[in-house]
Amino acid sequence: MSIKLGIIGGGQLAWMMADAVNKLGVKLIVQTPSQNDPAVSIAQDSIFAPINDAAATEILARKCDIITFENEFVNLAALSLLEKKGVCFRPQLSALAPVLDKYEQRCYFKELGLPVPEFLALSREQEIELQIANFGFPIVLKARRHGYDGQGTFIIRDIATLSKIINQSQTQFLVEEFVPFQRELAIIAARSVNGEIVIYPTVETFQENQVCRWVIAPAKISQEQSLEIEAIAHKLLNSLQYVGILGIELFLKADGTILVNEIAPRTHNSGHFTLDACATSQFEQHLRAVCGLPLTNTTLNCHSAVMVNLLGYEISQSDYQKQRQQLADIPQAIVHWYGKTESRPGRKLGHITVLSDQDNRNAVEGIIHQIESIWYPPEKICENFPK
Ligand code: ADP
Repeated sequence: MSIKLGIIGGGQLAWMMADAVNKLGVKLIVQTPSQNDPAVSIAQDSIFAPINDAAATEILARKCDIITFENEFVNLAALSLLEKKGVCFRPQLSALAPVLDKYEQRCYFKELGLPVPEFLALSREQEIELQIANFGFPIVLKARRHGYDGQGTFIIRDIATLSKIINQSQTQFLVEEFVPFQRELAIIAARSVNGEIVIYPTVETFQENQVCRWVIAPAKISQEQSLEIEAIAHKLLNSLQYVGILGIELFLKADGTILVNEIAPRTHNSGHFTLDACATSQFEQHLRAVCGLPLTNTTLNCHSAVMVNLLGYEISQSDYQKQRQQLADIPQAIVHWYGKTESRPGRKLGHITVLSDQDNRNAVEGIIHQIESIWYPPEKICENFPK
């Protein structure tokens, strides 16, 4: 009998599970706010409710064997009551608890002995200037909860701006040192119910205004660095007793030091290349893990791959047919279009992966530039490649 899998969140991350759902014969039921959300079209059944609506999750639980997450902005306290009543969440809620608040997540990493940027939780009772006395500018301010795609992350250059943002908001913040990284890296790893672990090749990611623009797989790093990152992944997965896919974001400094920035307890944008460029996608691997199936091969099936996000740059209801066709005409390109009904600046509308038989950096940058030139108006094209 096929497994009935509930998923909290019906965005593109759930939508990209479509092939794996069919392959593994899983019945998918989504809890998502709107009928227009991408994964509604691939689900057998949908419950239209906000992600953090635990009463809706209780209804979802009655229809499913297992519940997983495409979005971690859930009401953990309310879900815990369901878990106590026997609802099976994978990853289990104890693996989510330490990571939903960015400050608590950082404390967790530090206790595990992982390398992290200097950070502290801002208190509203004390003078801000005193609290950040050891940091210096620029400084990075982050909302402790519900930040994503750079929403809630601010790179700040002076005390006046810092005070203004904090005073105008009720949000709880952490601050951290600005890391002058040479590159940003990410790794996707999975752990099964039996504790088996598989890891994808480390990738290089590039963020502009805190939003991921593109990913290159594999990252050009030393074997030592690669092993160090894999060891970080093992440590995190095992200590959290994690089940499913975990995305880990890292900073690589010019002196070769690696710092952990943050983790995402779900499939991750930096792993979208796996759909086309790896033996098994992160989406299939996640389903395998949470459904109690054995994990499978994570190797690249090409020499290298580049994934470029197609971000909204205007408010529009266009489906961008012409640009999508031009992108699809690039040799060895695969365009994934999420079918969203409205475009807004910064919104992830789709992505494109281009496979390559070589890993010449100039050629890779040329492809990224070609994609961005087709997709964006001239003033939005990113010219800023890390050296
Ligand atoms: P989000 O959860 O919104 O993605 P992140 O912590 O991943 O937030 O930050 C988004 C981006 O902001 C990072 O990928 C990086 O480019 C930049 N950033 C975040 N923290 C720092 C830092 N301490 N130093 C320098 N840049 C940072």
